[in-house]
Amino acid sequence: MGVVLILLGPPGAGKGTQARMLEEDFGLIQLSTGDMLRAAVASGSEAGRQAKSVMAAGGLVSDEIVLAILQDRMAEPDVKRGIILDGFPRTEGQAAALDRLLATKGQRVTAAISLEVDDEAMVGRVSGRYTCACGEGYHDEFKRPAVLGVCDKCGGTDFKRRADDNAETVRERLKAYHAQTAPLIAYYEGKEVLERVDAMGDIAAIRDDLGAIVSGVSA
Ligand code: ADP
Ligand code: ADP
Ligand code: ZN
Repeated sequence: MGVVLILLGPPGAGKGTQARMLEEDFGLIQLSTGDMLRAAVASGSEAGRQAKSVMAAGGLVSDEIVLAILQDRMAEPDVKRGIILDGFPRTEGQAAALDRLLATKGQRVTAAISLEVDDEAMVGRVSGRYTCACGEGYHDEFKRPAVLGVCDKCGGTDFKRRADDNAETVRERLKAYHAQTAPLIAYYEGKEVLERVDAMGDIAAIRDDLGAIVSGVSA
């Protein structure tokens, strides 16, 4: 397998936005557990039924469900090109399970990149977020398509907002981030793979900073 990158950061930090650009720039594969869980909910599977109410309340889905979904995805051949984990791991249990899974493939985490942001700005970022059916992400204020209502990437006009992207649920998700996910920054610092990036600037500048880190570790 190629590189294994982790993007850490609270809701709204820019994980999805930057993961898609790293796919374009480096030919890596984005693995978003949030997207996988939303697909499970939409499919009506047993895992999806269990995840649905937890996600709507802004809590974390059980490690068991998330790990099962991620392991299935990691068994597919395209991950050999290298992966960007977006929204995973979110607990120390998930991080330890990832280390064990990678070890069975003779692999380890290449870099865990912490997108450092101010919490107060995240409510506005998440509340203004919407996504094209093709997966391209937008923002009412910070990332508008060139022609309003038409996707820059695919020309489509079918946009969606997530039910959990409201101010109240975002505050719950921020709490879950600080209680359960932020400790992973120290976890990866201890493994000497942590990189910190100021993610309060504009999208293009952050893309450049991440590009420099990824070029460095994939050389
Ligand atoms: P995450 O995946 O970490 O929750 P997203 O990448 O979906 O975050 O970004 C959240 C929202 O903020 C989206 O609407 C996105 O267009 C916008 N956004 C992403 N990065 C920035 C940035 N650096 N500055 C302003 N808005 C941003
Ligand atoms: P964001 O990027 O805005 O933080 P995600 O799409 O990553 O949102 O996640 C949406 C929701 O899906 C989370 O609030 C949580 O309920 C669930 N989820 C996603 N990834 C995980 C994970 N690794 N562990 C537990 N729950 C998860
Ligand atoms: Zn599109």
